[in-house]
Amino acid sequence: MAPGGGVFKEVLESHLLSSDYETGKAKSEAKSSSTFPKSSVGSTGKNEISSKNGVYDLLKCPVCKNLMYPPIHQCPNGHTLCSNCKIEVHNICPTCDHDLENIRCLALEKVAESLELPCKYQSLGCHDIFPYYTKLKHEQSCGFRPYNCPYAGSECSVMGDLPTLLAHLKDDHKVDMHDGCTFNHRYVKSNPHEVENATWMLTIFNSFGRHFCLHFEAFQIGTAPVYMAFLRFLGEDSEAKKFSYSLEVGANGRKLTWQGIPRSIRDSHRKVRDSQDGLIIQRNLGLYFSGGDRQELKLRITGRIWKEE
Ligand SMILES: [Zn+2]
Ligand SMILES: [Zn+2]
Ligand SMILES: [Zn+2]
Ligand SMILES: [Zn+2]
Repeated sequence: MAPGGGVFKEVLESHLLSSDYETGKAKSEAKSSSTFPKSSVGSTGKNEISSKNGVYDLLKCPVCKNLMYPPIHQCPNGHTLCSNCKIEVHNICPTCDHDLENIRCLALEKVAESLELPCKYQSLGCHDIFPYYTKLKHEQSCGFRPYNCPYAGSECSVMGDLPTLLAHLKDDHKVDMHDGCTFNHRYVKSNPHEVENATWMLTIFNSFGRHFCLHFEAFQIGTAPVYMAFLRFLGEDSEAKKFSYSLEVGANGRKLTWQGIPRSIRDSHRKVRDSQDGLIIQRNLGLYFSGGDRQELKLRITGRIWKEE
């Protein structure tokens, strides 16, 4: 029954009912700015600077007990505290109740900058040690930093390494998992004219020992309603580039094809969507491909993933 004969193994046919999609303005990437959580130092951080224990104590914020990083603040009486806590105590010194004003403790900042600190993803496997600012820079691209959950269409704050996320996608989002490098998906929607900003994330594919997620969604480019399908790679961008994929959709002797490179899930699903890096189907064409009286969206998307040598 699949067009394309035996080329594509039919692995799945999914009918999406109204409960299977979620509308909303894709708020799920609100976390992307969270690369700077409250300061923390790995358990061996103390060891690295054990010879400077006095300094270490000086750099401990009296409120949150974390190591203070620039900007470090002090009250007019010289009590120091970290910038997170300055906000939380509403600019009143917790030690002497004096107004905190806006006084920096530059000497302490210099000391803090000179310390070598472990990457904050030490517990996830990174054993690098850096001066403070280099460390911040490194942590933004550290290969051990956790991934955000790639599930689209709902706000999900789960983060973790790939095995954690795969288990989470399966158990908590009930995402289908499939093996193989070809696929054949049907997307059915009974009231396509009402669907804007709908996201579907149907499936995770396990191909070549790596994992890919296929996204399909309805949104607008300008005022034009479109559907878009694209693939994301569960892993780093450098790895994603080793793969290519193709998508095809069509009917009645017409066909749209797309060939691309899967995007790392380091790029949010929203970012990939907005860059239009995937198969884009104008709604009118999508309804034409659906056949019938255009009152129902019925698209069959076939695809293939391969490894570039
Ligand atoms: Zn603090
Ligand atoms: Zn004070
Ligand atoms: Zn690291
Ligand atoms: Zn999730």
